[in-house]
Amino acid sequence: MRAVVMREHGGPEVLRVEEVSEPAPGYGEAVVRVAAVAVNRLDLWVREDVGHAYGATLPIVPGYDVAGEVVEVGEGVDGIAAGDPVYVHYDFSCGRCPYCLEGDEAACAEYGVMGVNRPGGYVERIVAPARNLFALPEPVSFETAAAAGSVYLTAYHMLFARAGLEAGETVLVTAAGSGVGGAAIALARFAGARVIATASSAEKRERALDAGVDHAVDYTQPGWGQDVRRLTGGRGVDLVVDHVGAAAVPEALTALANTGRIVFCGASSGPRVELDLIDLFARQISLIGSSDGSRRELWEVFRLLGEGLIDPPAIEAVLPLHEAAKAQELLATRAHYGRVLLAP
Ligand SMILES: [Zn+2]
Repeated sequence: MRAVVMREHGGPEVLRVEEVSEPAPGYGEAVVRVAAVAVNRLDLWVREDVGHAYGATLPIVPGYDVAGEVVEVGEGVDGIAAGDPVYVHYDFSCGRCPYCLEGDEAACAEYGVMGVNRPGGYVERIVAPARNLFALPEPVSFETAAAAGSVYLTAYHMLFARAGLEAGETVLVTAAGSGVGGAAIALARFAGARVIATASSAEKRERALDAGVDHAVDYTQPGWGQDVRRLTGGRGVDLVVDHVGAAAVPEALTALANTGRIVFCGASSGPRVELDLIDLFARQISLIGSSDGSRRELWEVFRLLGEGLIDPPAIEAVLPLHEAAKAQELLATRAHYGRVLLAP
C-alpha cells in the first residue's frame, strides 16, 4: 500500500509517496482503511521541526485526523467490526494510569500522538488500538469526521471546559477561516452566544457571515480591537477564542469587556506578547490556556454533528495522497477557508 513517508525535516519536497507494508492488527487493535485525513498546521510544524518542539521520530508518516472504515480486527476486540465507519483518535496512551482514567491522556507517561511519534494517517490503511476508534453516527461522512475531529474537540474543550461559555455571551473568534476558528464559530453559535469573527479578506469575511457570525472584522486594519468594541456598544466581548497569538492578542485584549476572558490553544503567529498587568488586574481579565480535549468531549462532538445540532466544518479542498505537499502548501499560504483533506 502507499503512504507519504517523511524521512527528513524540511520543505514540502520531503513528503514522498512510498510503498510500505500492510499493517496487521495486534491484540486489541483494528485496521482502518483511511477514507479521509485532514491536513493540520501541526503537520507543517513537525515537517519543519519548528523549535524541535514536537519530538517527531523519523522516518514518519504524518497526519492525525483520520476517518475511515474498519477492515480487520485483531484478537480481543469486541463492539467494533469490519465495515464500521469510525474516527481514529490520535492520542495514544496507556489507558490504565490515573491520568488516563481521568480522561487526561496528555499527562500520561506513555502519551504519544499519531503522525508525530506514532505512524500517522497520510496512508491507505492504519492500525490503531480499538479503544481509539469512535463509531460515526449515520449522517456524519468520513470527510466531515476527519475535518471536524481535532479542531472541534479543541474548540469544544476551550469554550466549555476551560472558558465556561454561557448562552447570551458575546464571543470574538480570531481567524474565522482556520480549522479551530470555524469550529469555535459553530460551537459558540450552538451554545447561544453572539459571535464576532476576524478574517483577513473580504471573501473570508463573507464566508464567516454565511456561517452565521453576527459581524466579521478585518484584522489587517490597525485598531480592529476598537472596531469590535464599537460593535458591542462600547462594552467589549465576554470571551475571545484565539490561536493566532502575538499578532492578535494585543487588539483582542482591547476588544475584551471588563471581567472578560481570553482562551487560547495556539500561537501560530508567535508566542510572545507584552502585557500590561495593571490593565489586566484593574479590568479583572482572565488569560486561559487550553490544549486538546477529552475522549468524552470528542464523543459529544460526534453526537452533536450526528444530530445536526452543530454546523459541520467548511472544507476547502480534498486532494489525493500524492498531492500531500500541495495540500500542506495550501495551509501555509493561509489562502484557504476551512479544512484541507487528503483522500488516500
Ligand atoms: Zn496513562
